[in-house]
Amino acid sequence: MTVTRESVLETLGKIVDPISKKDLVTAGMVRALTVSDGAVRFVLEIDPARAKAMEAVQAEATEALKALAGVTNVSVVMTAHSAAPPPPDLGGKKKSEPGGPQKIPGVDRIIAVASGKGGVGKSTVSANLAAALAAEGRRVGLLDADVYGPSQPRMLGISGRPSSPDGTTILPLRNHGVTLMSIGLMTRDDEAVVWRGPMLMGALQQMLNQVQWGALDVLIVDLPPGTGDVQMTLAQKAEVTGVVIVSTPQDVALIDARKALDMFSKLGTPVIGMIENMSTHICSQCGHEEHVFGHGGVQAEAAKLGAPFMGEIPLDIDIRLASDGGAPIVVSKPNSPQAQAFRRIARKMIEDGQA
Ligand code: ADP
Repeated sequence: MTVTRESVLETLGKIVDPISKKDLVTAGMVRALTVSDGAVRFVLEIDPARAKAMEAVQAEATEALKALAGVTNVSVVMTAHSAAPPPPDLGGKKKSEPGGPQKIPGVDRIIAVASGKGGVGKSTVSANLAAALAAEGRRVGLLDADVYGPSQPRMLGISGRPSSPDGTTILPLRNHGVTLMSIGLMTRDDEAVVWRGPMLMGALQQMLNQVQWGALDVLIVDLPPGTGDVQMTLAQKAEVTGVVIVSTPQDVALIDARKALDMFSKLGTPVIGMIENMSTHICSQCGHEEHVFGHGGVQAEAAKLGAPFMGEIPLDIDIRLASDGGAPIVVSKPNSPQAQAFRRIARKMIEDGQA
């Protein structure tokens, strides 16, 4: 028997908020409800001052839903409905429990690379960090989960389709010391893919669990921009070691970066830190220094949010040319200052046990 959205709402409609005396649905507290293959997820929007008292309501809702026929997993995340985000959760590792976040066999750590906005260089940073960690001798995998614009095959110079000798497991491809699986390797270059929520979640789970990653020290997951289904699914299904947030120093990008950070901390994913990309630009002709998108904004924001600042990457044409040419700058110009900026971040992550 499959559970429907209607039956979930009916069940939640019988649970009463002790203060307003309204049921959770009428009180407008149930947000972002998804019901898929027996898994029920939603956000319970509450007054932060009542967080402790609402734990009993959260538990009651979870129990009532688990008792519904066809429900296999219930995940309720409480969030504050006030505009002020809570401080990021920098600790709090979750344990493996049935239906909860799981480890991938053979993979020691999973690091998500996220951004609030598209085009801030999240994929460029993922590819270079992966190559930089490989250059430090780590066994590195890269999962390109940016379903809206999978660019890792191009950035790592990988083409062709991964094979599946038994029709179930998928053999990833490899270049520059990095084992890669990308949603882009499963579709044709010219194919516009329209993904809906359940398909996205299915594709991500397939890439996490059916790909033969082998023994890895770290698997980097290049997420789509924003705060959507893929991010939620990853945080709920995989034991993520931590998330790195990439942003440009511009205000508009920072606003979205803050939202991304807020979502991960609510989901209980530790925040490793923030990286400022497209920071200082040095003119290749005259050496003049310019701050095209501002400078220092990410460091200031990280300090405000209590998240570590991991470093800055310049806005530099060689970084783009290297990515377009299929060998990240860390590989194509290993001694350049740009490559060294990535290497420093990678070394710090290894020192801190994050990679
Ligand atoms: P996202 O993954 O956030 O959408 P990308 O990594 O695809 O962003 O970067 C968007 C574009 O900006 C690409 O053409 C990329 O080569 C370029 N780019 C990213 N970072 C830099 C940088 N530091 N200097 C120059 N170009 C960059």
